[in-house]
Amino acid sequence: MIAYNSVTKKYTRKNLTTIALSNVSFTINKNSIVVLLGPSGCGKTTLLRLTNKLIKLTSGSIYINNININEYKDVELRQNIGYVIQQTGLFPNKTVAENIGIIPKVKKWKKIKIKNRVEELLDLVNLEPKKFYNKYPSELSGGQAQRIGFARALAVDPEIILMDEPFGSIDPINRLQIQDELLKLQSNIKKTILFVTHDVSEALKMGDKIVIFKKGELLQYATPLEILINPANDYVESFIGTDRALKILGLIKAYNIAEKNIDNIINIDTPGDHLINIFNNTKDDFLFVLSDKKPIGYIPKRIIDDENKHIKNLIIPFPFIIEEHHSLNDVMAYMLRYENYHFPVINSNGAFIGSISYKNIKKYISQIYKNNV
Ligand code: ADP
Repeated sequence: MIAYNSVTKKYTRKNLTTIALSNVSFTINKNSIVVLLGPSGCGKTTLLRLTNKLIKLTSGSIYINNININEYKDVELRQNIGYVIQQTGLFPNKTVAENIGIIPKVKKWKKIKIKNRVEELLDLVNLEPKKFYNKYPSELSGGQAQRIGFARALAVDPEIILMDEPFGSIDPINRLQIQDELLKLQSNIKKTILFVTHDVSEALKMGDKIVIFKKGELLQYATPLEILINPANDYVESFIGTDRALKILGLIKAYNIAEKNIDNIINIDTPGDHLINIFNNTKDDFLFVLSDKKPIGYIPKRIIDDENKHIKNLIIPFPFIIEEHHSLNDVMAYMLRYENYHFPVINSNGAFIGSISYKNIKKYISQIYKNNV
């Protein structure tokens, strides 16, 4: 846990004083990702640098696990807080392995222990150890260098990782991928991560909670959903953009709203002459058809007549099937693209877990607004 109490930082150069942070107080829960969001110059980097004592507080205090950071030795504190920056900060004259192994070496780990740890970390960040171990930073792409920077920050397994615009220089496609990788990794390694960005979409995607700053002042500290639904003031509202409702869709996953208790569902081996009866017992005007738990298509009521005895001849395949991790943004896009407003949702094994319709998206969103306004 990290607690910031009335944190204030002033820089004075010649006779000019800049208030980089003014009376900032908030607490970060262990194992969560907190994003520091705001335009350039609002104090985000300053807060990171105060946390690992690269710079000194003007007033206020910072506690890590209930101990004032002044009680930790500077070097000891910095070795136990990983730090990742946009320019990666890799030493160009050292190999990937040497870069990752820097702090373990300072801590006098045995060579073999460092080697094993480097290989383990390369695996963790999806870079083949054999291929990357002896490379130099100049031989890496931006995304690969950033992964190495992250591996280095994890080397001695610190509890806290500070990340300053880590994906700022990565192209948009690789950026989305590396964001996904970090989220996936975080679900296993469970670090306390402070993540600086000025990109609203990145903040909404990465943060368990987001702190919004303006000129050194904390304007709002809340979950992405809370910020989108109830921005603290006009500044936050305009900063997060006019497409708030669409951004909310981006935060909700198909599994959050897939309807599981449905009665319009049959197995492929259902006898055709049961169909009329089944339709009489459901409000819906179509049936999902499953084979081996997987959705293979649907049968609309309008095509049923007494002559149809074979279900296989009636099935219309779905133009698209929603995976449980798809966001409602994606789901809406597929609905518009395929002019189909009712889709099956599957899990990672392809098994049917429920249905999703335009109607239940609308209901869910209006419920969110009702509960939070
Ligand atoms: P951000 O990370 O949000 O871009 P910073 O924390 O880097 O913002 O900077 C906050 C403010 O403090 C800015 O006005 C910046 O110019 C000023 N500042 C940062 N570092 C220094 C410094 N070493 N000396 C003087 N002013 C600084």
